[in-house]
Amino acid sequence: MSKPITELTVVRKEQLTPGMVRIHFSGDLAAFAGSDFTDRYVKLVFGDPAELETGGRPTLRTYTALSPDVAAGTLAIDFVVHGDEGVAGPWAASAEPGDTIPVRGPGGAYAPDPAADWHLLAGDEAAIPAIRQALAALPSDAQGYVVLQVDAASYQQEVAAPAGVELTWLHRSDPAHPSLSEAVRALPWREGRVHAFVHGEGQAVMREIRPYLLKERAVPRDDVSVSAYWKQGRTEETFREWKSALAAEESTA
Ligand SMILES: Cc1cc2nc3c(=O)[nH]c(=O)nc-3n(C[C@H](O)[C@H](O)[C@H](O)COP(=O)(O)OP(=O)(O)OC[C@H]3O[C@@H](n4cnc5c(N)ncnc54)[C@H](O)[C@@H]3O)c2cc1C
Repeated sequence: MSKPITELTVVRKEQLTPGMVRIHFSGDLAAFAGSDFTDRYVKLVFGDPAELETGGRPTLRTYTALSPDVAAGTLAIDFVVHGDEGVAGPWAASAEPGDTIPVRGPGGAYAPDPAADWHLLAGDEAAIPAIRQALAALPSDAQGYVVLQVDAASYQQEVAAPAGVELTWLHRSDPAHPSLSEAVRALPWREGRVHAFVHGEGQAVMREIRPYLLKERAVPRDDVSVSAYWKQGRTEETFREWKSALAAEESTA
């Protein structure tokens, strides 16, 4: 059955960093009741949402729902503003209080397992909202690493982590900083069962970090939440084709 569609209204906007805006929305969030995944997301519908029921194809963009409060009817979304290209980034950059957007959802699949011995959370800006929520859900004595990649120091955000979870920021613009996958590979591997959440740009996440965790480190598939959130040089539509090609390649490997 397809997920419910609701309309969100922009209440307020905050510039979090030069490359990210947080939009606070109000709406009927009944569909979020009972959903405890920390990576809960919605599909923003650019076009007529009625088309979703009639086989049409309005433009969809996927965003993590931050702090959905069903009783208050509020949630926030942190949007990467990545220039003039695309649909959702530019929409967020120019959104004003009172603007509305239909959304479908929520989806989601991950929450950190409190029984894991340690946690590995890694991603770029697009994954910071989901990683922020995962960190907030960890027990205070949780152990592990969080590795976040942004353009430069001025693009860092306040991210709270339990004391035992070591936070590393990587800056793309600094040649002295490793890439996301290099940084993950360089982390001292710990004893015991890891629960991993790794999302962001497709090449880094699916081609580099995923094989490292699943093949080289032999982490069980169920203990790794890994997916591409976006793909350099591709809109979400052509990015879906890339994901299908990758899945087909893996099924014949
Ligand atoms: C489950 C899930 C949760 C997500 N949560 C968030 C979230 O909370 N916040 C968020 O900002 N994104 C999030 N994303 C990623 C977001 O859906 C994509 O970045 C999406 O492509 C943005 O749509 P757009 O219309 O702005 O750009 P598109 O039309 O898809 O792409 C236009 C151009 O912009 C480039 N581009 C797209 N995204 C980025 C980016 N992040 N950085 C640099 N260049 C980019 C593309 O490569 C392309 O060249 C999530 C994705 C998934 C699958």
